[in-house]
Amino acid sequence: MKIKELINWLESVAPPAYQESYDNSGLIVGNPEAEIKGVLTSLDATEAIVREAIERGCNVIVAHHPIVFKGLKQLTGQNYVERTIIAAIKNDVAIYAIHTNLDNVLHQGVNGKIAEKIGLKNTAILAPKRELKKLSATLPAGLAAQAQEAVRSLGLAVQADLFAGQKLEVVFHGPAQGAILNALRNTLGQAPVYDVVALENKSLEVGSGLIGTLAEPMPELEFLQHLKTVMQAGCIRHTRLLGRNVQRVAVCGGAGSFLLGQAIAQQADVFVTGDYKYHEFFDADGRTVIADIGHFESEQYTIDLIYEIISGKFSTFALHCAKTNTNPVLYL
Ligand SMILES: [Zn+2]
Repeated sequence: MKIKELINWLESVAPPAYQESYDNSGLIVGNPEAEIKGVLTSLDATEAIVREAIERGCNVIVAHHPIVFKGLKQLTGQNYVERTIIAAIKNDVAIYAIHTNLDNVLHQGVNGKIAEKIGLKNTAILAPKRELKKLSATLPAGLAAQAQEAVRSLGLAVQADLFAGQKLEVVFHGPAQGAILNALRNTLGQAPVYDVVALENKSLEVGSGLIGTLAEPMPELEFLQHLKTVMQAGCIRHTRLLGRNVQRVAVCGGAGSFLLGQAIAQQADVFVTGDYKYHEFFDADGRTVIADIGHFESEQYTIDLIYEIISGKFSTFALHCAKTNTNPVLYL
């Protein structure tokens, strides 16, 4: 099976159009036409992960964090990013990143996995993404069906029953607009005449963070102990406890401090995330308890999540979870 077939599946679960603007999700190294020998899932794609992939007979790494975020101007091996890319290219190992697009989906996303570990029910996106949009176009008769299929196969349509005759009307999440127009342009050889309207509805399935409830309320300290155990955290840095039970819990894998306002607005008793800075802890201000469990710790089960996403669909190649611990933060 070719790498591009794997990519198509991953992108149907977490469309690249849902990634944040600073992100670099997608195929970073490798040829999409190459045959898959084996796949290694990991949180980071470092030199050690490339070595592990080679040792375990894998020629594809599917990592959460992109090894390349910004443009590289030389490849001389002077830092770990360049060395990783060089090692991957020399050894014919492809690197694919599924990052903030996997953070931003409700189903089979990073935060859903954290919620599952903590035992949260009735989960919903904490900060739903921008409004939904609708694109309408009249297509040339000869290419209408082909263009409709090109859009449908992107898997980005929220409402998919709007394809008929020469008409195309498709409802999608705002960030998907570029991908839909590209598909139309590629099929028609030019952009169609179209208009796009913003809908009043908000998408409830795409966005940042997640909020859910525990089956039974728990005293704060007991909850933090539970959190430390299930998330295998070396330590938890938290704000002052408020002397109440915990039932509503907001989570955001990685660096989630930007979501504190949403967590408070939605009455989260605890906000679980990572990468909090000293001054940001003050912002809890007695309104919720911030629990910083560490960036790696909050996202480590993403390695299993990516494994599950792939194994749920394919069984024709070897698939492994990385054993190398890439956490650069150690605790004394
Ligand atoms: Zn992260």
